[in-house]
Amino acid sequence: MKLHLITLREGRNLLSESILPERLDLDGELFQDAVVITGHADWNGDHADIRLKIETKTSVVCDRCAEDYVQAIAADLRVQVLMQNVPEDDDGEQEGLIFAGKQGTHVDLKDEIVEAILINYPLKRLCSEECKGFCPHCYSNLNEGDCEHVGQIEASANVEPRGETIADKLQRKQQQ
Ligand SMILES: [Zn+2]
Ligand SMILES: [Zn+2]
Repeated sequence: MKLHLITLREGRNLLSESILPERLDLDGELFQDAVVITGHADWNGDHADIRLKIETKTSVVCDRCAEDYVQAIAADLRVQVLMQNVPEDDDGEQEGLIFAGKQGTHVDLKDEIVEAILINYPLKRLCSEECKGFCPHCYSNLNEGDCEHVGQIEASANVEPRGETIADKLQRKQQQ
């Protein structure tokens, strides 16, 4: 997302853009939907205070049943752009601050947007809070119905069988 500083009006400027994941160099397998950005920039001639809401979807694998599903990602981003050259003592450590230069005409917010998406990437992946997982005996997906082991599965065992990871399960499924 390029912000053209010279086209900003004094006061509030509404921003909205839809960007294809490949234009942000996001993995095309994980990100198939456009990244939708909405928000505003408050501009006063030498400083832009930008607040954005970033929304997209990602394709992930459920930790419990190992099925693919799509999860929404929403991130808030605040960036301040100063029409100043980078100060000599700047260590680049100040989050959300961009020095556009005294004669700057635009800033590219791509890196900030990608970082906000990755920070909000889901760590806990459940296709639903009620996901029943898979049967530890026959590996059928219990969300699709009970299997013949219905009486043998303890309530606590409906996550992963002990010592077996989802990778093991997938491997076994392929060997069948
Ligand atoms: Zn699931
Ligand atoms: Zn079963």
